[in-house]
Amino acid sequence: MLLLGDKQSSTLTRPLVALRDTVVFPGLNIPLSIGRAKSIAAVEAAGHQNYEVIFVTQKNNEAEDPDLREVYEVGTLARITQILRTPTGHLQVQAEGRERVRLRRFVKTDPYPLVEAMTIAEPIEQTTELEAIRRAILSAFQQLMSLTKVVPMELVLGIFTNPNLYRLVETVTVIVNPDVKSRQAVLETEPLKERLNLTLKILNHELEVMQLSRKIENRTQEEFGKMQREVFLREQMKSIQKELGGEGDEYSELEAKIKQAGMSEATQDQALKELDRLRRMPSFGPEVSYIRTYLDWLVALPWSKVSKSTIDLVAARQVLDADHSGLEKVKDRILEYLAVQKLAKGKTRAQILCFVGPPGVGKTSIGKSIARALGREFIRISLGGVRDEAEIRGHRRTYVGAMPGRFIQAIKQAGTKNPVFMLDEIDKVGADFRGDPAAALLEALDPEQNHTFGDHYLEVPFDLSEVFFIATANLLDTIPPALRDRLEIIIYPGYTEDEKAEIAKDFLVPKIVDSHGLKKVDFRLSSEAIHALIRHYTREAGVRGLERQLAALARKIARQIAEGKHHRQTITERTLSRYLGPIRFRSQLAEELDEVGTVQGLAVTEAGGDVLTVEVTKMPGKGGLTLTGQLGDVMKESAQAAMSYTRGRATNEGINPEIFSSSDWHIHVPAGAIPKDGPSAGVAMATALYSVATGRPVRHDVAMTGEVTLRGRSLEIGGVKEKVLAAHRAGLRHVILPHDNGKDIEELPRKVRKEMIFTLAKTMDDVLDVALVPAAKKSA
Ligand code: ADP
Repeated sequence: MLLLGDKQSSTLTRPLVALRDTVVFPGLNIPLSIGRAKSIAAVEAAGHQNYEVIFVTQKNNEAEDPDLREVYEVGTLARITQILRTPTGHLQVQAEGRERVRLRRFVKTDPYPLVEAMTIAEPIEQTTELEAIRRAILSAFQQLMSLTKVVPMELVLGIFTNPNLYRLVETVTVIVNPDVKSRQAVLETEPLKERLNLTLKILNHELEVMQLSRKIENRTQEEFGKMQREVFLREQMKSIQKELGGEGDEYSELEAKIKQAGMSEATQDQALKELDRLRRMPSFGPEVSYIRTYLDWLVALPWSKVSKSTIDLVAARQVLDADHSGLEKVKDRILEYLAVQKLAKGKTRAQILCFVGPPGVGKTSIGKSIARALGREFIRISLGGVRDEAEIRGHRRTYVGAMPGRFIQAIKQAGTKNPVFMLDEIDKVGADFRGDPAAALLEALDPEQNHTFGDHYLEVPFDLSEVFFIATANLLDTIPPALRDRLEIIIYPGYTEDEKAEIAKDFLVPKIVDSHGLKKVDFRLSSEAIHALIRHYTREAGVRGLERQLAALARKIARQIAEGKHHRQTITERTLSRYLGPIRFRSQLAEELDEVGTVQGLAVTEAGGDVLTVEVTKMPGKGGLTLTGQLGDVMKESAQAAMSYTRGRATNEGINPEIFSSSDWHIHVPAGAIPKDGPSAGVAMATALYSVATGRPVRHDVAMTGEVTLRGRSLEIGGVKEKVLAAHRAGLRHVILPHDNGKDIEELPRKVRKEMIFTLAKTMDDVLDVALVPAAKKSA
């Protein structure tokens, strides 16, 4: 039975054009761009044969000049209805598909491929089954159209009106436009029923995909709608709450807090502005938590909260005395300072106090006492190791995780805007700070500026002018000069053994008894035991180590009590080692021998005054001078000066100058890990050098300090008190000082003054007279 469009197969020979990614279907028009030379030649040759060519699709796109195996077997005979030559040499053609063909062979390949092909028969069939599939296809197609596709009207008409099922299949395929493999499959599948089924499958797949994506789209829209609804409801709730008088609104609580925080008007405006932003934001916005944190900070700061503080000098004296023994000069200075503050009543802005001294001498605890005496809060921050400005001033709010700087954090912790604020380790600022951070610190401390201290995070100024700042430092020299200008320095020189014993008896022992839950009778030490503890178990200018040793002792006793073994005996010097183990320090200096080239120098380090041994040797060489022991530049220069002085003097005294030119000299200051600097070891180095040059030993029980000039004068130096106390601690009883430092002896504790011998030297002659063992009485 042959019906409309019925086609039988026949053989034909036509030029071939291979296509990439494109399938040409019979009955449909298609524009094509043709660029390959052989394809162009093929199209041109078609002119001789009714403009007919065969289009086939390449199996892969790489082949430039595909042979029979590289193209699909089934292609389409088409008629070229239009040719347009583009300026680039390509052909823009319009082709109209005629019928499907199966390739048989290549007749020739040059200058264009010519192929022999068989047209494919298309017998028209009409069965109920085919009709059923057709309807299924049409219904699926309708559904698809309802979902999206915009389709040219003529194609749609073609689908619904064309009775040729072969063309229906192809038209649907072109509209759905599946991948090239599926398109080719539709082109070549036989028989008709299979083709229809394949098309239905492609159509249904497309339909499914469309429905799914529509669903997803709907769901997203739904969710979005829900979100908007939520925002809307929230807004509504807010306005209802407003109507009802703000009851329960989380933000109105915050608003109340802002208004009660005592902010300045400008600050309050800023806070309310931020609150307003917050209110207008959907509550799940990313910024919400940042703004909340910011407002929480603003609300938490003591904008106008102060401790009621009066300066009562008598009461202040009592508090200082109750908390600390000794330190008379320090206490006097503090009381004077407070008196000025009281009288000036903020008219003259006072300098900032700065306590300088080694660890454990009571700087922090005096600070706390001052706070107690004035009835103010006490806070402290450490500036040691602070590296950048942001640590002082905070990070701008645009940084994730931004926070206010340390000053504002500490103020929040204090809860008042007039605390006693201790800045520890201000001398470590110079080493760690670069550029701006020091400026931030200056601004915070400067009474002219600090009533509007700017923190990057806060954005609004905070008034630091009522803060009582106290800085602390271990060394004076390393405080940056710009800061030092602002500071009123109070030196804590360190304690003598007797002072330490008194502190231990009156303060440390009671404190430890208390904190260890002991009874007074359980923890008694004889006076000798305390002195032995100080002398043999600690070596320090302050009392930290002493406090630690006492705590260790208290722990041992607490354990004995817990185990029922304690006998409530007073701890004596003799029983001390039973608890604390063998003696740690002896005053070994006293046991040493007089040696050539070894001198006890005195220095001030971070740990307080210290005895530094200067050693000199010479060895055969060429007159070089080596310096070791981490000496700073000033100290190195002063070593050079000492060397030059020694050479001059030795030569004058008839010592063969050869020993200088034919020897290498080495000055070493042990304890190499501690950096040392300053000119005050000059006298000690010159003495050691001269001792080596002359072979005369140096007295081991004499310590010395002083700067030396090339002509052998001994110049004034600083830190006499710390140095003499260090010598005293080490058991050295004779100290040589520059003549001009005589006035400093007055400052020393009377007991130390009485126990020591001082030589005030104007020149090196005076020093050497005392320090060197007379040539006749060599003892080493
Ligand atoms: P610093 O701040 O100088 O390093 P601290 O103030 O922390 O030293 O003092 C260490 C310990 O020694 C504290 O327990 C302190 O109370 C105590 N102390 C120091 N000097 C005295 C003193 N003169 N009288 C009483 N206790 C003191």
